[in-house]
Amino acid sequence: MASEISHQHQLHVYIFPVTAQGHMIPMINIAKLFAARGVKTTIISTPLNAITLAKTLHHDRLSGLDINIETIPFPSVEVGLPEGIESINQITSPDMIPKLFLAVTMLQQPFEKLLEKYRPDFLVADMFLPWTTEAAEKFGIPRFIFHSTNIFSQCVAESLRINKPFENITSDKKSFLVPELPDKIEMTKSQVPEYLIASGSFLSTVMEKIRESEQKSYGVLVNGFCELEPAYADHYKNVMGIRAWQIGPLSLGNAGNEKKSSIEEHNVLKWLDCKKPNSVIYVSFGSISKLPNDQLTEIATGLEESGSPFIWVVRKSMTDTDENYLPQGFEERMEEKGLIIREWAPQVLILDHPAVGGFMTHCGWNSILEGITAGVPMITWPMFAEQFYNEKFVTQVLKIGSQIGAEEWQDWVETENVSVKKEKISKAVTRLMSEDGEENEEMRKRVAELSEKAKRAVREDGSSHLQFTALIEELKMSKK
Ligand code: UDP
Repeated sequence: MASEISHQHQLHVYIFPVTAQGHMIPMINIAKLFAARGVKTTIISTPLNAITLAKTLHHDRLSGLDINIETIPFPSVEVGLPEGIESINQITSPDMIPKLFLAVTMLQQPFEKLLEKYRPDFLVADMFLPWTTEAAEKFGIPRFIFHSTNIFSQCVAESLRINKPFENITSDKKSFLVPELPDKIEMTKSQVPEYLIASGSFLSTVMEKIRESEQKSYGVLVNGFCELEPAYADHYKNVMGIRAWQIGPLSLGNAGNEKKSSIEEHNVLKWLDCKKPNSVIYVSFGSISKLPNDQLTEIATGLEESGSPFIWVVRKSMTDTDENYLPQGFEERMEEKGLIIREWAPQVLILDHPAVGGFMTHCGWNSILEGITAGVPMITWPMFAEQFYNEKFVTQVLKIGSQIGAEEWQDWVETENVSVKKEKISKAVTRLMSEDGEENEEMRKRVAELSEKAKRAVREDGSSHLQFTALIEELKMSKK
């Protein structure tokens, strides 16, 4: 009861993630951060996801962290989804997305019952749960948003939404400047998300709801650190009026994540131990992208022609069903040079290894931040969501990577045709991995400096640690 809340009141946070790896992994790390500071932490989950989650948290709970799981039934069948589908990662076609969203929205009522019964002090909920702001408000509970991206991309998206600089551009491939930002940011119309260009689509409605809920929320928790994007943190606060706490890199609290690697970690590390420092390119396109076999063949050939040692992650769900994409004799020829990891790789460990000197990435924010934290320069190959904004951040603001030349934003995780040819792939890899060249040297120096800053940010006197402390203090004060 409010009147009984004393100075000693133990804060209780509800963490409500959506189940896509790129959102789940950092949110579990947020939960652990809160629990490590003595905050009672409850993660809201659905029945099947809760099983995996319980396994993931087993050791943390044994070690004394106060993290609990509260389960809400998931109405997959009610909305016309096959039984057992509870997460974005399980979706196999775009027409399932609105159904999944509907099911997620139907969680509101049971969620409100939990809020009413347990009255947590505050809520951190994923961006894709915009209705949680209103649900929490009913019980006077502040809601924080987790977008699973940086502040920069939020600023770019807002400028594009308001200013529509692409409107009078006739050519899809002609670049324009994104107005009113701290830096000169160039992009092309074909890289702009479709929902910003034409209104009325399912995605544009969802994004509008997310924006509105952000306006009404208490603030935003960001997987980043203040030395990484200070001008954009100011812009977010002063121009967009949104409070943000930069509390990352979240991967530093926890090198592993909830999914089991499909290869023994020590085998990968042993393979890397035999390679020269900075000689290996790591190629991965995240947890949900899907590429056609033709594109995978181009990647295989491009990597072979580059001559660089590589680790390449190819998930089964990334390929067409026949999985017949490797050129004849590829694996025999590449036995020494290349390691293909089928399914799930221990990404953070790989990036951290001294032999890894480059990262070809689809520009998911977790991946980029893990690359920065490990001090590895990048080749950017964005595909969907806010990945093109992230590319601009890497190449035009931080200047720690170069574009491979992806041109088209996709409204879904599946790439339909070959979008980047082998020549571009091999050229980009050869350029990044060559030991000489002033541009390369500068890039490596810059990313090494950022890596140092990232590691410093999470130490006791570091900026992320301090911002997190300030947040907890503010919440405690509001309970007095
Ligand atoms: N990841 C991993 N192994 C893999 C693929 C992905 O550990 O084989 C992790 C990666 O380290 C990152 C997350 O999954 O933390 C992917 O998030 P990101 O934002 O980069 O991309 P998304 O999957 O959301 O497109």
